[in-house]
Amino acid sequence: MSEACLFCNIAAGNIPSQKVYSDEHIVAFRDISPAAPQHILLIPRKHILSVAQLEDEDQALMGHLMLHARKVAEQEGFAESGFRCVLNTGDDGGQTVGHLHLHLLAGRGLSWPPG
Ligand code: AMP
Ligand code: ZN
Repeated sequence: MSEACLFCNIAAGNIPSQKVYSDEHIVAFRDISPAAPQHILLIPRKHILSVAQLEDEDQALMGHLMLHARKVAEQEGFAESGFRCVLNTGDDGGQTVGHLHLHLLAGRGLSWPPG
């Protein structure tokens, strides 16, 4: 854990969040400023800055994270209506929190392309 990192502290339970799923590898919680009726963030417990820092050893962890995007979508009831998975990466990718997170957005028709 990186002690200064917001999402490490959420994963550790030091900062409150509305968790919808957690296991030994990942945590999923509701975004504090939802951009859609359903907006959940999935994070690895391991502190990884972004997709740009992924290593070969993170392959299984990222597979686990992606698989649980589907499982959380089913749990929350929007797997059939559809959803979007987003991994903002770096400055041009619009990333504001330096701990890799997958946005799971649902509950309305989402436009494309993003701004
Ligand atoms: P990004 O801009 O892709 O880095 O996404 C960061 C996301 O984290 C934004 O959607 C924020 O609303 C969300 N966020 C920031 N602080 C918190 C928090 N304490 N609890 C839940 N979500 C947060
Ligand atoms: Zn972190």
